Amino acid sequence: MDLIGPDHTLYDVLRKPALPQYDDIRPAAIARCSSTSDVIEALSYARSTNLPVTPRGGGHCFAARSSTTGLMLDLSALSTITVEPTEALATIGAGARLASVYRGLHEYGLTIPAGCGPTVGIVGLTLGGGLGLLGRRYGLTCDRLVAATVVLADGNVVTCDAERDADLFWALRGAGGGQFGVVTSLVFTAVPSPAATRFKLTWPRRHAAEVIAAWQSWAPDAPDDLTASLTVNADQVQVFGATLTTFDPGPLATLAPEIDLRSDLSWPALKASLSEVDPDNRIIHSKSEFFRNPLPPDAIAQLLNAGCELNFTPMGGAYNRIPVDATAFAHRSERFLLEHAGSDRNAVRRSWSIAHAYASGAVYPNFPDPDLIDWPTAYHGSNYPRLRDLKAKYDPANVFHFPQSLGGPR
Ligand SMILES: Cc1cc2nc3c(=O)[nH]c(=O)nc-3n(C[C@H](O)[C@H](O)[C@H](O)COP(=O)(O)OP(=O)(O)OC[C@H]3O[C@@H](n4cnc5c(N)ncnc54)[C@H](O)[C@@H]3O)c2cc1C
Repeated sequence: MDLIGPDHTLYDVLRKPALPQYDDIRPAAIARCSSTSDVIEALSYARSTNLPVTPRGGGHCFAARSSTTGLMLDLSALSTITVEPTEALATIGAGARLASVYRGLHEYGLTIPAGCGPTVGIVGLTLGGGLGLLGRRYGLTCDRLVAATVVLADGNVVTCDAERDADLFWALRGAGGGQFGVVTSLVFTAVPSPAATRFKLTWPRRHAAEVIAAWQSWAPDAPDDLTASLTVNADQVQVFGATLTTFDPGPLATLAPEIDLRSDLSWPALKASLSEVDPDNRIIHSKSEFFRNPLPPDAIAQLLNAGCELNFTPMGGAYNRIPVDATAFAHRSERFLLEHAGSDRNAVRRSWSIAHAYASGAVYPNFPDPDLIDWPTAYHGSNYPRLRDLKAKYDPANVFHFPQSLGGPR
């Protein structure tokens, strides 16, 4: 383990997360870990110095949970990806980012259903669920997880799966990152890396209300092979995504969009082409909720005047075919997720309040929201009591904590 202090040349490079509004959080030290034994040593160092400790994967947490004034565990060197092709099993180190996961698995003709941000960390994404373009076909990223290796707060190493420490394995699939221990690697059953069509349908912003109305009655019920997200910004409204078959724009065709289709793209190329739409380096405040019913026209009109970006993600499909108690991820009946994003925090809050009246009240654990009051129900629904008990079992001293963690703040 390398211990990096504030005077080290790498200190500022390593400590800064993806969201620049958290740049000023300065850890007492950064432990660079390149093996499971390094993680054990780092946790021992945190115990002996009484420093709070938090693991950092891709550093994309909206609530800065991988930043600390204590000991930050930098896991970026644990980024090995190995594939066992006959069983389609992929073992991925905790420091891997999504773009390298897609590239690494594609060499074997494989992929996993996962998110779009190329520098999002695989562990943070998986522990909170994992929504992506293949999700309506294959489920959440965590639904493909078959095993995980975790260093617990006391330094014990647990490899959990459906048979071994099955309760921890259950909890890791959707409760959110940083709750039970430090994951050092994940094993997934991969799926074939498809050639697919990437589509972007674009309209001037004045058409936003009619596009949203048509989208919400179509995208959540579309065939599993089609994932169409919708984004409205200050200039335009865009429906974009991927399909594994021939692209059919459904009711959106009658709204005369400008259509940009790229067919027969390899999966890594398709993902890369969408990071133009979803840039990875915006300054953002973000609030979101899940919805089971469409937004009425007057709510849509108010949202469009609230002054922030609206991002709609379709749910349904394979996401919703898994029982709510099969994994810790509690949101298996939702039709879509609506994120309000922007650099003006008040506009984001205003926009969220307008939509909140129509939302299910459920919130995606990977889009944490410090404003939430009843966060246990919002993030974990009916799975919360079991998760709280498992937190007491696997992290009895509440070493891994943050304001909305299962063991509560300290
Ligand atoms: C630009 C951008 C694009 C995004 N795109 C998507 C998307 O397409 N789909 C989607 O579902 N989500 C998406 N997200 C949300 C994303 O899933 C979460 O922000 C996720 O938590 C990021 O993981 P990370 O490792 O990058 O972040 P980090 O901030 O490093 O970690 C997030 C949490 O996990 C914990 N953690 C990290 N590593 C470990 C570990 N090894 N063991 C235990 N706990 C750990 C951290 O302590 C923290 O609590 C996006 C976010 C951003 C900012």
